[in-house]
Amino acid sequence: MKYESVWKTYKDNDVKAVEAFSQDYRTFLTACKTERECAAWAVKIAEEKGYTCLDSLIAQGKKLKAGDKVWAHVHGKALVLVHLGTEDLETGLNILGAHIDSPRLDIKQNPLYEANDFAFLDTHYYGGIKHYQWVTTPLAIHGVVVKKTGETIEVVVGENDDDPVFCVTDLLVHLASEQMEKTGKKIVEGENLDVLVGSRPLVFEADDLEDEKSESKTEDSSLAAQLKKLAKKEPVKAMLLKLLEEKYDIEEKDFLSAELEVVPAGAARDCGFDRSMIIGYGQDDRVCSYASLRALLDLENPKKTAVCVLVDKEEIGSVGATGMTSRFFENTIAEIMELAGSNSGIALRRSLAASNMLSCDVGAGFDPLYPSVFESKNSGYLGYGLVLKKFTGSRGKSGSNDASAEYLAKIREIFDSNKVAFYSAELGKVDAGGGGTIAYVLAEYGMNVVDAGVAVLSMHSPWEVSSKADIYEAYKGYKAFLLDA
Ligand code: MN
Ligand code: MN
Repeated sequence: MKYESVWKTYKDNDVKAVEAFSQDYRTFLTACKTERECAAWAVKIAEEKGYTCLDSLIAQGKKLKAGDKVWAHVHGKALVLVHLGTEDLETGLNILGAHIDSPRLDIKQNPLYEANDFAFLDTHYYGGIKHYQWVTTPLAIHGVVVKKTGETIEVVVGENDDDPVFCVTDLLVHLASEQMEKTGKKIVEGENLDVLVGSRPLVFEADDLEDEKSESKTEDSSLAAQLKKLAKKEPVKAMLLKLLEEKYDIEEKDFLSAELEVVPAGAARDCGFDRSMIIGYGQDDRVCSYASLRALLDLENPKKTAVCVLVDKEEIGSVGATGMTSRFFENTIAEIMELAGSNSGIALRRSLAASNMLSCDVGAGFDPLYPSVFESKNSGYLGYGLVLKKFTGSRGKSGSNDASAEYLAKIREIFDSNKVAFYSAELGKVDAGGGGTIAYVLAEYGMNVVDAGVAVLSMHSPWEVSSKADIYEAYKGYKAFLLDA
């Protein structure tokens, strides 16, 4: 059986709808480069669509009924959004799940140092990256610094045209004969992914230094005095600390309680003369996150309760309080069932076991430059629509959720009857590919789960490429699932 590009089937109206949806997606992708930014953005548009915070409903003792819309978050990094249907919650939920974390460089907790008149921020990469892809490209810093007082300082620098950007340097090719002999894993070492952030020393006038001599008898702990002392040995670092204090009111120790993510700087763009694709950072898995969220928010009068869960930490194993393996999801559904008057423990278990889920995540698209790692009949392709993956995993399906044939038949029927372009794929050929998603986590409740996402080129690189047609078909497919599963 041969699948085909969905572009071949589009009429003018379809192309217009695809374009409109993709431009909204591009705006989201440009604005949201961290899990916190994605979660905050999702809450904002959900509230515009009538969603209410679960915590405030609990505080008011409000009862929930069909048609009500609720959102809940954990630590501002993972979200559950629920649109209550007319059917009893115990009959199960229709759940879309995607992840909003992406591979990047995280700034270490003691990051700032000076070397040979440059200042650097040391990083520890997050998720699966090819180290060498992160050098010599403009980088931005997004995140938060939380002071001991609890005050949160939000940082986004490198995105506006007049912002500075940052970079990781690389060796001139003429000096790199030894480096070029190394394997891809070693050509740029993870520990060498340090971000260049300054080169100008802090200089004090002679008068200031005179003052210092007289002051030095009495102990002066002010920042100015500290900088003066530091500037003798590490003047570039001293300059950085001065600027950080002026701009953000933070000191060096505040990095300890910060989450600063170094990401590619700049906007998501149309890609190709025909503008059929989008190139942007973090499409794994913000493309499925966006399509899932829009599918839920655009839903009207669902019979079954519809849920969209956007989680963090997928790229490092779905761990922690904000990852899919957290109890957060189950607890949120329990709270909602309580408010909806369906409050026995067994009702919750029945509901979860009877639920249907699409694990909405991306997979590798077939790349004609690297055909040897794909098996062409069972590959993802850009422009072919929504990809169903019965299983992911690697080497004998290890670690995968293997969806049941019965469930796949049901999903096929829903997609066909709603004219969604879809096909089936694996992630790479046998023993070459593999990878995980959040599918196996919710499957542990006994619910039906299958992976359904879009194919991406250059996946996990700083600039991933997706097809506008696939983004739109994903949205259509997710919406059809929420209504009909
Ligand atoms: Mn993913
Ligand atoms: Mn990934």
